[in-house]
Amino acid sequence: MPLFASRLPHVGQTIFSEMSQLALEYNAINLGQGFPNYQMDSHLINLVSKAMQDGNNQYAHSNGVPLLRQKIAEKVAFLYGTELNADQQITVTPGGTYAIYTALTAILHPGDEVLVFEPAYDSYVPNIELNGAKPAFVHLQAPDYTIPWEKVWQKVNRKTKAIIVNSPHNPTGRVLSEEDIVQLKSLIQKFELYIISDEVYEHLIFDEKKHLSLLRYPELLGRSFVCFSFGKTYNCTGWKLGYAIAPADLMVEFRKIHQFNCFSCFTPTQVALAQFLEEKEAYLELGETMQSKRDFFQKSMIGAPFQALPSHGSYFQCYNYMGEWKETGIDLSKRLTKELRVATIPVSAFYHDGGEPNQIVRFCFSKTEDVLQEAANRLHN
Ligand code: PMP
Ligand code: GLN
Repeated sequence: MPLFASRLPHVGQTIFSEMSQLALEYNAINLGQGFPNYQMDSHLINLVSKAMQDGNNQYAHSNGVPLLRQKIAEKVAFLYGTELNADQQITVTPGGTYAIYTALTAILHPGDEVLVFEPAYDSYVPNIELNGAKPAFVHLQAPDYTIPWEKVWQKVNRKTKAIIVNSPHNPTGRVLSEEDIVQLKSLIQKFELYIISDEVYEHLIFDEKKHLSLLRYPELLGRSFVCFSFGKTYNCTGWKLGYAIAPADLMVEFRKIHQFNCFSCFTPTQVALAQFLEEKEAYLELGETMQSKRDFFQKSMIGAPFQALPSHGSYFQCYNYMGEWKETGIDLSKRLTKELRVATIPVSAFYHDGGEPNQIVRFCFSKTEDVLQEAANRLHN
């Protein structure tokens, strides 16, 4: 036992590590933790290799390779119509999770509160608590998981420092609507709030929905840290590379922390991505590819004892097993892994208290069709 008190006394291993480990142990198909089972673009791999051969192997600029930041600014102008100052507003980070943590650390002081919608990606709450602040929870209800704005307005008070939004949303696949944007705008007009916008799944969007990035709205961007992940966009979650975008004054504070926490990110991938970002199809076609995987899996699951909930983005879809089994999500997920050899993630893990008794599990469908089909076959059992 360590001789000091834990900073996170109630936290154990994340559900993603737990289920992936169990999947390995039982040789199960892993539809739990979110990552593709197929190879990333070989051209991008070659560009990294070339970057290393060319000698790009020393510390990069602390804020990120300048050409990469310039290319990110061009991409943002192309996609969202917003002109950014690449020197002052963009910082390359070791992944999206780190960007979110650094943003929260930049703004939070002990006693502050942060509005968190549940179900929520599991790093948000520990990140808030490590900064001495407290989460204030607003529950989203299945099957649509729309934001109950009247509850948000009731929860905001003078201690509320920030709100975290995530679109497309993990685990539900819900995407922000025009009405959500209207509400966010009036919220920050009324209260001195900052927004952490987790947009790591920006390109994984379906059904002709448009990604309503907060980068589109100058009044929202003026108060936001918007966080992205190259791992999600280029099928390389193991690269752990992403970036944050914020107004210049907020970014100054973000960088004060970043320079002492990691200083700079892996250079070769940054050099490669600066070139690869020119190839727009690589990210523009991603939504369509992922939508066809969602549809394929959903079709394969017809007749299995699971009912699909709507998912308009991310590479996740939630399925209800109510009526079929009485056990909790975590018990069912473990049993499916051990007995049917298909790993999933219980949605209860995305609530600080397990949520209301919800019999819903999340499947990750960024897999090849043979694997999705085999998983569905096993789940029909
Ligand atoms: N936010 C959400 C909602 C995610 O699902 C993930 C995936 N891990 C991240 C952030 C972080 O991505 P990264 O691996 O780049 O840290
Ligand atoms: N974002 C991934 C998921 O939701 C997992 C990331 C992680 O393992 N921390 O499955």
